[in-house]
Order: sequence, then C-alpha cells, then structure tokens
Amino acid sequence: MPGKKLSDDDLKHFDGQLRIMLTVLHGDMEHLQVDALGDGQRVELQGDEGEGYAAEFSLELLQRDEKTAQDVIDAIARLETGTFGRCTDCENWLMKDRLRAMPHARRCISCQREAEANQF
Ligand SMILES: [Zn+2]
Repeated sequence: MPGKKLSDDDLKHFDGQLRIMLTVLHGDMEHLQVDALGDGQRVELQGDEGEGYAAEFSLELLQRDEKTAQDVIDAIARLETGTFGRCTDCENWLMKDRLRAMPHARRCISCQREAEANQF
C-alpha cells in the first residue's frame, strides 16, 4: 500500500532530521577512524589479539556508517530535487511511518525486500 504525498512541513521535518543524522554520523566516523586505524605506534607497542579485534570491529562499524552516510546524503539530494519520500524503484510514496523510522530509506518496503532478495 503506497503512502501519501508529503507536505512542506513534513519535508522540512525530514530535512532537519537528515542533517542531524549526517552530523552524528560524521562525528561517529571520526571516533571510529581513530579506533580502527589507531596511531600506528599504539598497535605496534601492544599489538595483542584484543586490539586487533577491536580495530576490525570499528572498521566494520565505519563501513556501515559510511554506507548510511551515503544514503543520508542521497536522501538530502532527493529533497533538493523534489523526489524525496518516493520509492526510487516504483516511485510510489513511502509510508510516513517508514520515513520516520528511516528517513534515508530509498525504497518502499516491497521494493526493498525484492532488492535484498536479489542481492544474494
Ligand atoms: Zn517501491
């Protein structure tokens, strides 16, 4: 079931939310980058298993954050071109609940399911 067209107030709300998300993500990424890459010296000095695992974990988080950040940037671009809130595949309006939970969502739930099923 497709959602409804977003009002200007909704768009303003999501615009604010996306920009906050981007700021938070960038802050996170800076921290994670330091964790993942370290200063080189520290890893050499106490390079035990634990340290390596922590770095790997941070790197994983970092890659996930980078993907989310890209989704957020794309969503902001869609706000600017007036296509925000519509599925990039079928062009139906996304449900507002879905956008509230995930303002950077690109697809409606059924297209998202299909895209994920085709990924593997
Ligand atoms: Zn769709």
